[in-house]
Amino acid sequence: MEVVHQLAQMVPGVVLTIVKLCIWLTMLSAVFVPLERLFAVRRQTVFRRHIGLDLGYFFLNGVLPSLLLSSPLAVLARAAHAALPTAMTTAIAHWPVWLRVIAALIVGEIGFYWGHRWSHQIPLLWHFHAIHHSAEQIDWLVNTRAHPVDMIFTRLCGLVPMYALGLAAPMAGSASLVPVIVLLVGIVWGFFIHANLRWRFGLLERLVATPAFHHWHHANDGPDVVDKNYAATLPWMDWVFGTLHLPKDRLPGRYGTDHPIPKGMADQLLMPFMPMEDAGTSEQGGADDAPLPPSGRGRGA
Ligand SMILES: [Zn+2]
Ligand SMILES: [Zn+2]
Repeated sequence: MEVVHQLAQMVPGVVLTIVKLCIWLTMLSAVFVPLERLFAVRRQTVFRRHIGLDLGYFFLNGVLPSLLLSSPLAVLARAAHAALPTAMTTAIAHWPVWLRVIAALIVGEIGFYWGHRWSHQIPLLWHFHAIHHSAEQIDWLVNTRAHPVDMIFTRLCGLVPMYALGLAAPMAGSASLVPVIVLLVGIVWGFFIHANLRWRFGLLERLVATPAFHHWHHANDGPDVVDKNYAATLPWMDWVFGTLHLPKDRLPGRYGTDHPIPKGMADQLLMPFMPMEDAGTSEQGGADDAPLPPSGRGRGA
């Protein structure tokens, strides 16, 4: 009965979150739908294939990760914070907000980069992350196509180092502005870098992530161009760690993954918990196609 009571108490909060998500969806559509009509990389309709699936993920990932993220974040952040020298974390916590925002962006990006790279290299994580790479038509809404476990893992990788270093202060029980700013910028930027836009930005593309940079991350053009461009907002992170791929005058020929992915959302959510042969019907390969080895796309970055 206690569990039922607790669930009932959560209902108003979830309803409010859904209303907020509807407002976000309207605003994002108002920006990206016209831009993608005017400056598309590829001609595709607004109601493209699997748009319903991505709308489902938009609402699921708008509600679930924020509900499930706080407890593991608090435990991991507390443990990591305690492991670092107090003098260092105290000094950082007293930096001005602008400096903490810049430091948090860089530290969060390093954490995200490695969380994302591990999601491609470690078979268990790839089974969750492959769902994001199943999209064969890319637009802004593909940003939301992710297994909640995948989303929570990469967010934890980005946020825990920030808290651990004292760039945010969850241990004091006060809401910190810095991770909120960084997370919000990251989420909005995520829609932009998935957008079906042909804009190129010259040298700026190596400083700040753009659609061309992230579209290459979704490329399925052969072994030379997979497992590239892991950064979310700072492409030079890929340059530092040796995974940058950003030709000046070319864009990918095709998107997606050869990893077998079931069609329906429920099957996709269950897929990582099942043996490969029970993972459902592949939408990209026929029944005769052999599944890839469990190392995801077959090679590390
Ligand atoms: Zn990826
Ligand atoms: Zn993506």
